[in-house]
Amino acid sequence: MKFKIVTLGCKVNGYESNAVREQFLLHGFIEDKNPDVVVINTCSVTSVADQKSRQHIRKYHRDFPNAIIVVMGCYSQKNAEYILSNCGAHIVLGTSGRNTIMQCLNEYISTKVKIININNDVRHLSYEDFNVIALPKSTRAYVKIQDGCNNFCSYCTIPYTRGQSRSRNRLSIINEIKTLVKNGYKEIVITGIHTAHYGLDIKEKFSDLMEEILNIEGLYRVRVSSIEESEIDDHFIELLAKYKNIANHLHMPLQSGSPTVLKRMHRKYNVEDFIAKVNKIRVVKPDIAITTDVIVGFPGESEEEFLETYEFIKKVGFSELHVFPFSAREGTLAANMDNQVDEKIKAQRVQKLIELSNELHHQYASKFIGKEVEVILEERNRKTSLLSGFTSNYLRVSVDLPDSYKGKIYKTIYEVIE
Ligand code: SF4
Repeated sequence: MKFKIVTLGCKVNGYESNAVREQFLLHGFIEDKNPDVVVINTCSVTSVADQKSRQHIRKYHRDFPNAIIVVMGCYSQKNAEYILSNCGAHIVLGTSGRNTIMQCLNEYISTKVKIININNDVRHLSYEDFNVIALPKSTRAYVKIQDGCNNFCSYCTIPYTRGQSRSRNRLSIINEIKTLVKNGYKEIVITGIHTAHYGLDIKEKFSDLMEEILNIEGLYRVRVSSIEESEIDDHFIELLAKYKNIANHLHMPLQSGSPTVLKRMHRKYNVEDFIAKVNKIRVVKPDIAITTDVIVGFPGESEEEFLETYEFIKKVGFSELHVFPFSAREGTLAANMDNQVDEKIKAQRVQKLIELSNELHHQYASKFIGKEVEVILEERNRKTSLLSGFTSNYLRVSVDLPDSYKGKIYKTIYEVIE
């Protein structure tokens, strides 16, 4: 039989789709553009993501009317019945039980009865290890170490769809990374739903795991997909100072630079903590790239509060921002808060921060013009048809080289800010 996997959402979804792909391949399925089975890994981080999930399920059912449509991920965790009866799906899994996908397929093929296999007791899930080592097509490999979240930020649905924070078995993580390194992957991106909450449920420390990973022989570069200010301990800062193969880049979500908005978001830090930690990191890594996520238009966000965010971002001097307009998520506290911000104002604030992000990125990248950098060449840029990739401090570099350089480490002089 032939299969196709469609992935929406975050890097964890990407990782899980790769693991499911391995399961299909191990069971003799062939990946094909004209599939008998389509798996759609959905996302529910915003209402737009919900809409996209529904659109993709309907599209693939329409495009492949004879195919079995399997849906999994965060959107399906909360909308299984709707997906079965309104979107043309045949099998619905949620954010757990993906390793039952073959069993469900066999059952559906023999009975033709639609299946929902979802565990709704999300706050008591055990970590689902896929026990396959996915060799992604890209040169960079994401390795999932943790799932779920216990923070309950007032705007976020993830704790309700992904469940409580739970850690993967340490040996399983180390073995996977060793296999990926043996298979030539130069960069490993450590990821999770709340990555640095790894270990909380098993009395281990994230920074201890990181040190073990950094000592894996032949591992050229390790990047952490995202880490909160409050989770960067002194040991982790020592690792930044001591190891050459840890990326000179941290993605630290800020969400807002206004103390009053941070409070309404139920975030676990304040702006003083945040900037103090950034300054501490810059003592050991003065030219580190720090990127971040920011939500604008949070309920009640006044012009003054927005300006507080704007000024605080400039003060920190991030190298790039990911900017998101607030999206009211059903079932969250923030969705029912008063003073929801007008969409036009949200759009204006998003635009202002995108302009600021371009300015800050240019300021940061300019410091490296004329300097020698090492880049892992990943893919050919469709527009420029040049081969491009990223440096340790997340600067994109493009060079005119043949495909044989894909996946290779290449030294060059940094000349063009992209
Ligand atoms: S930390 Fe907050 S925003 Fe992040 S997944 Fe957890 S609840 Fe959501």
